[in-house]
Amino acid sequence: MKILVTGGAGYIGSHAVQRLLQSGHRVVIFDNLVYGHRELAQGQELIVGELSDRDALYRLFSEQHFDAVMHFAAYAYVGESVKHPAKYYYNNVVGTLNLLDAMREHNVKKIIFSSTCATYGEPREIPIPETHPQMPINPYGQSKLMVEHILRDYDVAYGLRFVSLRYFNAAGASPEGGIGEDHNPETHLIPLVLDAALGRRKHITIYGTDYDTPDGTCIRDYIHVTDLANAHLLGLEFLHREERSEFFNLGNGNGFSVRDVIEAAKRITGKPIAVIEGDRRAGDPAKLIGSAAKAKALLGWQPRFADLDTIISTAWAWHQERFSAKVLT
Ligand code: UDP
Repeated sequence: MKILVTGGAGYIGSHAVQRLLQSGHRVVIFDNLVYGHRELAQGQELIVGELSDRDALYRLFSEQHFDAVMHFAAYAYVGESVKHPAKYYYNNVVGTLNLLDAMREHNVKKIIFSSTCATYGEPREIPIPETHPQMPINPYGQSKLMVEHILRDYDVAYGLRFVSLRYFNAAGASPEGGIGEDHNPETHLIPLVLDAALGRRKHITIYGTDYDTPDGTCIRDYIHVTDLANAHLLGLEFLHREERSEFFNLGNGNGFSVRDVIEAAKRITGKPIAVIEGDRRAGDPAKLIGSAAKAKALLGWQPRFADLDTIISTAWAWHQERFSAKVLT
């Protein structure tokens, strides 16, 4: 199949591209390269463009036929979304509307959408099932939830079938090397901890040690990016097999605290990691763990890199390869 991958030069998108290529699919990437990197496009056709550019999208769909779209392109900084909600609603919601309209105009009827556990807000139940109420507590989560609503309505009205994948905490890097996480600015725990191990940062700050958790720090469900990528391929197969739309959580169902992650990173890297205990970060729920029972049952998804040590060691291999020579200013 020929798949359009928006955001295919980004972290999760590039891992999906790698898996698509390994499975014999053809790929075209659409990315604005604001947070993506040309080299993560892995030599595939890369169209540098904005989702706000309806003409560019319509041109692309009239020039090339796609069997399906994988839609990763989005802004994804929770803190920034609180300060600049317009940026998030325009890019993540209006941009997606432009993409969906270009798709229906050109009769492309299948999309895999990158959603998030941030659509749930404060969990009332752990592990979180897909049926959990969705009450996001920041504009980022809200923007993704709005797209989920739009997808539901487009399915009913236009027969556009979707699989919406609600990721928990994406982490790690391809065990085959060559691609991985490189955000600028970086805000995620594991790459920041590895920066401290590599000496690119002086320390890691723990955001809050007074949570109602066993060690007082937040608990998250870290899921390997290659396992996420695999779920996208299974989502594609699901759409071809079932001809209906679905929402799935993608997580390991295991929670690790911030301190657990730091201890594992010390062990795996063999490096000292200086820790500062800081204040809570606004908008962080104490505990987020997902139930992926539905993805396992309906997609046949089985995470292969589920343990935290594997997640961190693949991230560490990439981190050294990518950043050893780069000193942060
Ligand atoms: N975190 C932290 N220090 C940091 C970055 C993150 O203590 O420098 C914590 C954060 O509060 C959260 C967890 O690590 O509890 C995972 O944060 P991340 O930003 O990686 O992902 P999120 O859960 O926000 O999607």
